[in-house]
Amino acid sequence: MKLHVIGAGLAGLACALEAAEAGAEVVLHEATAQAGGRCRSFHDPLLDRMVDNGSHLLLTANAEVLDFLKRGGGHSLLHEITPARFPMYDLTKGRLHMIRPGKIPPGLGWRDLWGVWQLRKGRGTVADCLRKAPLYRLLWQPLCEAALNTAPEEASAALLWQVLKESLLAGEKASRPLIVEKGLGPTFIAPVLARLTALGAEIRFGHRLRAIEEDALVFDDGRIGFGHAVLALPNAAAADLLPQQVERLPHRAIVNAHYRLDRPVRLPGGLPFLGLAGATAQWLFLREDVLSVTVSAADALAACPTADIALLLWHDVSRALGLPAVPPAWRIIKEQRATIVQTPQTEAFRNRLRRSTSPHSRVFLAGDWTEAGLPCTMEAAIRSGRRAARAVIAVAANWDGRTSQNGEPAISCGHL
Ligand SMILES: Cc1cc2nc3c(=O)[nH]c(=O)nc-3n(C[C@H](O)[C@H](O)[C@H](O)COP(=O)(O)OP(=O)(O)OC[C@H]3O[C@@H](n4cnc5c(N)ncnc54)[C@H](O)[C@@H]3O)c2cc1C
Repeated sequence: MKLHVIGAGLAGLACALEAAEAGAEVVLHEATAQAGGRCRSFHDPLLDRMVDNGSHLLLTANAEVLDFLKRGGGHSLLHEITPARFPMYDLTKGRLHMIRPGKIPPGLGWRDLWGVWQLRKGRGTVADCLRKAPLYRLLWQPLCEAALNTAPEEASAALLWQVLKESLLAGEKASRPLIVEKGLGPTFIAPVLARLTALGAEIRFGHRLRAIEEDALVFDDGRIGFGHAVLALPNAAAADLLPQQVERLPHRAIVNAHYRLDRPVRLPGGLPFLGLAGATAQWLFLREDVLSVTVSAADALAACPTADIALLLWHDVSRALGLPAVPPAWRIIKEQRATIVQTPQTEAFRNRLRRSTSPHSRVFLAGDWTEAGLPCTMEAAIRSGRRAARAVIAVAANWDGRTSQNGEPAISCGHL
């Protein structure tokens, strides 16, 4: 079968790889000149360094990502932190706390336990469950914003419970941080593109899908007849193309600051990353002489001018690391639509979408936002792409060539 995959982010790459390995003839269409989407690296002329659009943290619990890397080839470029530990520096008290999964965190109180029990029930927001917990500021709030890119006041309790269940509560082995030492592009994207090419897949860059007609995909340079396609697009792009089927969901920003250091630096805790509490800067990542700062759920910050952001975040960094107050060369990257907001309402939409599969679907949806029950992460993107590939292969095997069947609309969206 011939399969058109639209979008060469992680979901599209995972879909293309799964389908190509199963013997399908794959054509991957990407609007921009580069694969990777929200998970990409580029050379920054200002810093004269390769940087990522945003530092990504993985855990050993991310089984789909690890499998994707093993098959794609970038697995050896991850550095596993063993035993699992998360250094958190409380800037207001000047104290370092080491959170060790599998061990009771210092300061844990009965309200923390009660709150986790409430999360398990899966109703309401994270703040509804954990606002009064002693470890709210040091553990639950940073965890929620890092995992769901959504402030606890609006974040889905059910989704955070899922994260906890699959990682921290699953024990030390599932919670080991995996550090992307060489950057996102060399680890996740380049090896998979090479593997796809070796499998005979065709990859077309600068090929933006403009519309979907009953029997054709419409690009700027013409129409291509199609039987089945996978749209591995961000929510907004999918909603533009399929306004009847796909609801446009609100998003949240992530801001990243990269600083090129002019002196060697060691982070408190001795690891290449550090969480900050009581600060605007949330996570620091150190890669050689580039220190990167990540702020999630950052819509208010993203609205500020970049020079103000650089100063504000460096102020936290300089206090935490004892560095001079004047920042070194910096680059700010605002990902305005980093992920959809992950509230009980958007989770309800994602669950409805998941049930909307039809055996007559010809267009399948993938992308992190389609994978109900998982936060919008690399794990969700890759899982969704692989699922879509398996679904489309199964459905296409029984397709009789008609574009409309059994009273179904000509294009029915599916997500298995
Ligand atoms: C700053 C930042 C930090 C993050 N940190 C983490 C982290 O620490 N851990 C983690 O697990 N996840 C993290 N994530 C989330 C993770 O990057 C995403 O969940 C994942 O990359 C989404 O992949 P995707 O394929 O679903 O979508 P995208 O990456 O958005 O891919 C969609 C692709 O479709 C293309 N496209 C759009 N419209 C069209 C069109 N009409 N025709 C053709 N192509 C089109 C786009 O150019 C893009 O390449 C982070 C995201 C950001 C932005």
